[in-house]
Amino acid sequence: MKQPDQRPDQRPDHAARAGGQRDQAPQGGTHVDERTARKVAEEARESEWRLPSFGKRLFLGDLRLDLIHPHPRPDAEARRKGDEFLARLREFCATQVDPAQIERQARIPDDVVKGLRELGALGMKIPERYGGLGLGQYHYGRALMVIGSCSPALGALVSAHQSIGVPQPVKLFGTAAQKAAWLPASARSVTAFLLTEPDVGSDPARLRSTAVPDGDAYVLNGVKLWTTNGVVADLVVVMARVPKSEGHRGGISAFVVDMRSPGITVEHRNAFMGLRGIENGVTRFHDVRVPAENLVGPEGAGLKVALTTLNTGRLSLPAMCAAAGKWATGIARAWTAERVQWGRPVGEHEAIAKKVAFIAATAYALEAMLDLSGQLADDERNDIRIEAALAKLWASEMACRIADELVQVRGGRGYETAESLAARGERGVPAEQVLRDLRINRIFEGSTEIMHLLIAREAVDAHLSVAGDIIDPDATAADKARAAARAGGFYARWLPTLVTGSGQRPGAYGQFGPLARHLRYVERASRKLARSTFYAAARWQGGLERRQGFLGRMVDIGAELYAMSAVCVRAHADAHPEGDPVGEGTEPGPSAIRLADVFCRQARVRVDGLFDGLWHNTDAEDGRLAREVLNGDFRWLEEGVLDPSLPGPWIAAADFGPTERDDVHRFIG
Ligand SMILES: Cc1cc2nc3c(=O)[nH]c(=O)nc-3n(C[C@H](O)[C@H](O)[C@H](O)COP(=O)(O)OP(=O)(O)OC[C@H]3O[C@@H](n4cnc5c(N)ncnc54)[C@H](O)[C@@H]3O)c2cc1C
Repeated sequence: MKQPDQRPDQRPDHAARAGGQRDQAPQGGTHVDERTARKVAEEARESEWRLPSFGKRLFLGDLRLDLIHPHPRPDAEARRKGDEFLARLREFCATQVDPAQIERQARIPDDVVKGLRELGALGMKIPERYGGLGLGQYHYGRALMVIGSCSPALGALVSAHQSIGVPQPVKLFGTAAQKAAWLPASARSVTAFLLTEPDVGSDPARLRSTAVPDGDAYVLNGVKLWTTNGVVADLVVVMARVPKSEGHRGGISAFVVDMRSPGITVEHRNAFMGLRGIENGVTRFHDVRVPAENLVGPEGAGLKVALTTLNTGRLSLPAMCAAAGKWATGIARAWTAERVQWGRPVGEHEAIAKKVAFIAATAYALEAMLDLSGQLADDERNDIRIEAALAKLWASEMACRIADELVQVRGGRGYETAESLAARGERGVPAEQVLRDLRINRIFEGSTEIMHLLIAREAVDAHLSVAGDIIDPDATAADKARAAARAGGFYARWLPTLVTGSGQRPGAYGQFGPLARHLRYVERASRKLARSTFYAAARWQGGLERRQGFLGRMVDIGAELYAMSAVCVRAHADAHPEGDPVGEGTEPGPSAIRLADVFCRQARVRVDGLFDGLWHNTDAEDGRLAREVLNGDFRWLEEGVLDPSLPGPWIAAADFGPTERDDVHRFIG
């Protein structure tokens, strides 16, 4: 592998030269219409549900609390093994890692990675027979929480390797030979997952990297962008498009690629607003021969491999978020008790007290969601893809709010860097860094907007499967008639179930004590959500998929209801530990109920607002205004400040070569 030696804009476009394969994307060239993009996403979707799903039923108005209560727990052996590892990991992070150095030098020192390897932390979820620790998702999540609370950049290294890098897809889709070849290696070294390209972000249909069959190999060409760990990895998973030809069904496929193969160049190490230590780059593949046996899963199944990997892989980011929430609670508690202004600790002024309460209650919910989803994944009795997606979406949004509030309660010290604070003799609290480090979670592994669409697709699936043909422009009259009959039968059975439920019975969920009222609320809200979805589907039919404002709120309601359910079940388990506690450390006892109660009250205010917003909003006006803005109708508004297309305070001339300057001009117009 060659290291960065040439500017990307000076390089020949190898993809273009590779046998004219650059236009293998559907529709040719880089233009992919919306319908094709949706089709590609739909084909990658796992449509089968073999196991029950709490999340799916929640969107259908059916609160299946029995699927998550009593709170599942690891068995004794898993707990012993996992807890013992967590103790060693905690000790290592506390004594051997200097997070300030990682931030200052924007590098993770080699001896830290070596230390993690020796602890087994690079192979946490790899089975023991392949040299890993064989931990479950629950302990993996808790381990990420420890690492994330030490250094989010280190957390990103570990999770990009184990949640989406080589081991997980190989574990799920690899042949026996592939597992034997790569899992032991993955337990010892860092790997990466390379899907994104300069022109391919949320929309994989545009993927341009190609893997052209050639004898016993594929010839790989293309450029991959934002490759977390890609700069240092030995093995990577690469998504590339195989052209259709005789004997090859073609399509986007997943390959394990050895980074020592000739033809691979890491051209640039990217730098970001946060996660300064991550080794993230631009990687170019030029006529790289990848042995045919390195194909993971069948040809054309690459996106399915990626999405299935993410079913549990998505739980890594909630672990980082829960870590940040717990850490922020400690900082907020100490600071707002100590800092006195206007005659009282700032934490006693209502405006700040509300922020402290929000941070603490939300941190509890983040941990509850993480542990519950992880343990459900380990039990393999539920399909957790919706829960994991809801956890990723909700946790990444809420953790950013927590970090922002933490900066606020720390006042000027929240905005000052830890290094500067320490240099003038104060405690170096990196609140601003946490805000920067967390921000990416709303963008990668499925941005918030894409998670809304992905979860909404599952939430409306019942309607689409019975009535989809009614609104499908390609369906025949006979298909539509059949669908209408099917839909009539389904809705005749389903709609009456949404009218009343246990949420209206005063004594329901009585064993939850003061939390029972919140579960009754969840049950009522779940039915209301399902009714709202039905009304929306009937009203907008095929147009519903474009109502992103509506769909986003609908999914956010589902996420809050999942958080409330997880919190109630967790608090019940924390307050009544029968045998092993669910979490680690101090047993919270009845104070868990108190925290859960306040969390649920806060969440209900948000849910009520979201329900209101379903039908009272400015979505249509916003859409019209955005079109006008894009059209340039408000160019006058941009006057009075420096022209953003010119070098200026935010775009320094020195940072730009002629090519980029032209790009900026072209972009801004
Ligand atoms: C630090 C960092 C690490 C990364 N690590 C990796 C990695 O290891 N491997 C890898 O393959 N990739 C990685 N990525 C890429 C990351 O996954 C993408 O940035 C992400 O998928 C979004 O793609 P994009 O940035 O091109 O945004 P775009 O897809 O261009 O989207 C721009 C905006 O439009 C929104 N949007 C897009 N489509 C729609 C739609 N249909 N409806 C509504 N809104 C929409 C998006 O949510 C976003 O807000 C990383 C990125 C960063 C910054």
